[in-house]
Amino acid sequence: MVRAKKHLGQHFLRDESIAQRTADALQSENCDIVLEIGPGMGVLTKYLLKREDEIYVIEIDRESVLYLKEHYPVLQNHIIEKDFLKFDLERQFPEMQLAIIGNFPYNISSQILFKVLENYRKVPEVCGMFQKEVAERVCEKPGSKAYGILSVLVQAYYKTEYLFSVPPEVFSPPPKVMSGVIRLTRKQIIDFGCDERLFKRVVKTAFNQRRKTLRNSLKAFDLSDNLKANVIFGERPERLGVHDFIRLTNLIAADG
Ligand code: SAH
Repeated sequence: MVRAKKHLGQHFLRDESIAQRTADALQSENCDIVLEIGPGMGVLTKYLLKREDEIYVIEIDRESVLYLKEHYPVLQNHIIEKDFLKFDLERQFPEMQLAIIGNFPYNISSQILFKVLENYRKVPEVCGMFQKEVAERVCEKPGSKAYGILSVLVQAYYKTEYLFSVPPEVFSPPPKVMSGVIRLTRKQIIDFGCDERLFKRVVKTAFNQRRKTLRNSLKAFDLSDNLKANVIFGERPERLGVHDFIRLTNLIAADG
């Protein structure tokens, strides 16, 4: 048994049926391999190994890696002992399409998602568990309280689905929060129709002061009065969908 380490966000799933359901939620279409982040003692890995897919796992914790090597000899050299956040996906898996799955370490949830977005060309699907708050935020539509930077950026690249919730008691040790399993499927056509970098800057800047209207929160962009008179600038970011932000980005790019 691996001793749970708090600083690595270790909460081991004890409920086999939830491991099975999570593994079953993976579609792995258009993927060359499946990469599981943070396998721990392999409760999810076990069900992934029943699939046709080629499975790799990446785990930062030495003790877990030793456990996996002992209990899952079939994984052999498919166990990568590294920090996912520092891991070069293209270098390790050149030209390949990866489905990413996991009962993810909650202390780095947003970083995992931002890393996926940076690598979206390599990642057609992400499926797995986050703390419920993050899972909901990712899938939320405009107008709700939870809607934010992560919602807009993820939804610009992926179709999002909230699949099911998971209570704390099924983990050891139990986390303080509820969990949720989600699936992200990369959009067929990712047509920004605007400068992608500017889009990200606009989204982040707008949500940094989410209670303010865009006219106020986007001051740093030094916009013309003429542009600021446009009705969209009277809105708050939480009311705008991906397409609105694209339109906004184009208006800003064309200004001055
Ligand atoms: N999937 C297992 C463990 C979940 S706990 C289960 O469901 O029981 C999260 C796992 O992520 C732990 O095993 C932890 O060691 C691992 N982890 C934490 N940070 C990581 C990182 N940066 N890169 C890779 N794995 C990480």
